[in-house]
Amino acid sequence: MENSLEPTAVVGPRLDDSITAGIAEGARNIFVNRNLNIEKISVIGFDMDYTLAIYFKQAIEELAFDLTIEQMIAVKGYPAAIGEFRYDPGFAIRGLLLDKLRGNLLKINRFKVVGRVMHGTRPMTPAEVLAAYERKIDTSDKHLVSIDTLFSLPEANLFALLVDYLEDCNDGATQDYIRIFDDIKECIDMIHNDGSLKGLIALDVPKYIYKDPYLALTLDKMRQSGKKLFLLTNSYWEYTQLVMTYLLHDELATYPQWQDYFDVIMVGARKPGYFLTDSPFWVCDPVTEELTAFDGERFEPGVVYQHGNIKVFEQLIGHRGDQILYIGDHIFGDILRSAKNGNWRTALVIQELEDTIHQSRSMRAERTRLTDLEELRQKIDRELLLVTSKIGKLLELPDPAPALAIEIQRLQASADELKGRLGELVEHLTLIEEQIDTAHHPYWGEIFTERAEVSRFGEQIRDYACIYTSRVSNFLLYPTDYTFKAVREWMSHERLDLVL
Ligand SMILES: [Mg+2]
Repeated sequence: MENSLEPTAVVGPRLDDSITAGIAEGARNIFVNRNLNIEKISVIGFDMDYTLAIYFKQAIEELAFDLTIEQMIAVKGYPAAIGEFRYDPGFAIRGLLLDKLRGNLLKINRFKVVGRVMHGTRPMTPAEVLAAYERKIDTSDKHLVSIDTLFSLPEANLFALLVDYLEDCNDGATQDYIRIFDDIKECIDMIHNDGSLKGLIALDVPKYIYKDPYLALTLDKMRQSGKKLFLLTNSYWEYTQLVMTYLLHDELATYPQWQDYFDVIMVGARKPGYFLTDSPFWVCDPVTEELTAFDGERFEPGVVYQHGNIKVFEQLIGHRGDQILYIGDHIFGDILRSAKNGNWRTALVIQELEDTIHQSRSMRAERTRLTDLEELRQKIDRELLLVTSKIGKLLELPDPAPALAIEIQRLQASADELKGRLGELVEHLTLIEEQIDTAHHPYWGEIFTERAEVSRFGEQIRDYACIYTSRVSNFLLYPTDYTFKAVREWMSHERLDLVL
């Protein structure tokens, strides 16, 4: 089955480890939504998967995709022909919604207005989109699934390919898309839970996980500045041990074991439940993985704790709320719940950020042109408003003198000329907008925006993450008493003052 769009360039962590190049381009910056003074933070926590451990996107997604298909054929009885499907790493982006009732993928903006939609792998026309969704959607609809982690990209691609395939096999007839999705979900959960995915990663860790050369130095710098560090991951001990050993073991002489970097190690944390329930802590035996109840009065370094909850954690660590910064990649599991339920400060790791910034920089001239043209549009719009209001006032006069009739004619010609210029300008703007958009992704465009608006994904980042960045080691670039300052936001009326 061919995708109806050309596969896009493969994205993933760049193997360019040069931090200085990263600074120069801004791709390794830490970006700020809410001011955050690191000096006031006493404890810094880390998620593991996609946070401390950066995965090579294509390798891991391809593996998850292929293993899921094997399960779909073996367990769910799907035709063997689907074994021919090949994963397209550029097919889906994060932040999309999957509509399992209609077989679609959607990108929406922060007002929940539907922008672009694909049915299977086929882009829908604006008329089809309008017919299916009117304009806005209810994001709490139980048939909508958020593609909000990088783990969900393969399932979105497989879902779209299966929608195409099963419709093709049945003369285009509508299928039971809910069942297709539920089958995929079940199979994906199976490969995550039965150890088959992690088992294959374990056989060749360097193929799947990027070893950031600055990670150990970053954690050391945080510890040197007096912070307590903790690991809080949903992965269980065996896999955590494997990944963390690969990332940190023997990196610095003062930390012979990876456990030495952390004051508390918590695995199998079952986030977001960790932030919502009173699930007790257990001590996990690092050799046998046997659990024993934990009722200690403090955490011991090097001990592995499993499950647990935020309340007991804060009591035992002796810090709470905004004294704690948690760094994770999952907007719901890591960021939203820790911020809302725990009042923790939050940093979101967004792997796509480096590529997005590189792409935006390559379109810098177009972006400047776009801003200039938008300002010009506002000016012309305002001129037009003034001319038409003058015409209106003159026409209100009871018996206009001949001189006034000539003036009305002159103003009318001026209004027509302005309207003509506006029309041309809008066409030009749309072209540049499309150019910038397709530089990011040929169909979905930029991940953080939808046309001129912030996308739903962008809005969630803005709402829930105090700061965000592409990887943990970017903290190495900042002093340990640094205050991350948010960029001033202008409201629309203030911007107008700047332009006119
Ligand atoms: Mg994670």
